[in-house]
Amino acid sequence: MIIFKRPADLRSYLLAKETPRQATGFIPTMGALHSGHISLITKARNENQLVICSIFVNPTQFNDPKDFEKYPSTIENDICLLEQSACDILFLPSVMDIYPNGIDIIRQYDLGPLERILEGQFRPGHFQGVCQVVNRLLEIVMPGKLYLGQKDFQQCMVLKKLISLLGIDTEVIVCPTLREPDGLAMSSRNLRLNQTERKTATAIYHALLTIKDNIKLGDTRLLTQSARQNLSEAGFKVDYVEIAKSETLEILQSWDGTTPLVTLAAAYLNDIRLIDNLLIQAS
Ligand code: AMP
Repeated sequence: MIIFKRPADLRSYLLAKETPRQATGFIPTMGALHSGHISLITKARNENQLVICSIFVNPTQFNDPKDFEKYPSTIENDICLLEQSACDILFLPSVMDIYPNGIDIIRQYDLGPLERILEGQFRPGHFQGVCQVVNRLLEIVMPGKLYLGQKDFQQCMVLKKLISLLGIDTEVIVCPTLREPDGLAMSSRNLRLNQTERKTATAIYHALLTIKDNIKLGDTRLLTQSARQNLSEAGFKVDYVEIAKSETLEILQSWDGTTPLVTLAAAYLNDIRLIDNLLIQAS
């Protein structure tokens, strides 16, 4: 694996290599890699000649400065995992490389309602920050395929929207969420959970599973309400538990029995914010 820090060096290497765009797979990450990230690398490895991963903890997408400061970093382990999964290139840019004009000069992207609901509502500015960094990374890497995790369901929709807004020639490939044996969605932030919090954390998955298993045609509000209540009683501070159309993320309060759905949750355990979602198809 070759590690590049400077965008210009990575660009010259890619130009000289002449791998077709369509055969280049890209996985942007914030590091502290786990098997969920590696599943994206493995899928990209199977589908491309060239696999590029980036690690960059993007300051503009953290609406809470403490969350940014405490974001875990395990770079040596990350490099080992990427080597083992046959990643070709690791891109490790600095803040200056991504934001040469400084982080305060923010371009605005018209993301529509997606930006105002769920994560957008509870993390103002978050998706604008995500779009800033991914736009810049796509300009540098120019991949044919972008691999994203369903774990960040709304982010996948936002980035599809960004790519269509900008007319970028990159296909988005959404990969399934990898989970711990007890159901907790793998996440870099799980590293910050203490033993007790780690045990409690699995309740998010169970709350979503209960919704998925019990949803019926008609009013769905009781299901989401009782999920919120169960999580609060377990010690979470709940941002949201909702059911939405999986194609548009329009939040629903009743179900017609056929529309494909997604149920999504975000909640804090002390100062650690966890998110998860499950798709629901009519049976
Ligand atoms: P992050 O480093 O958290 O920004 O994540 C980088 C990419 O890995 C994003 O596309 C995430 O959705 C994806 N990802 C994170 N956790 C998981 C997981 N448990 N399973 C699959 N993909 C994941």
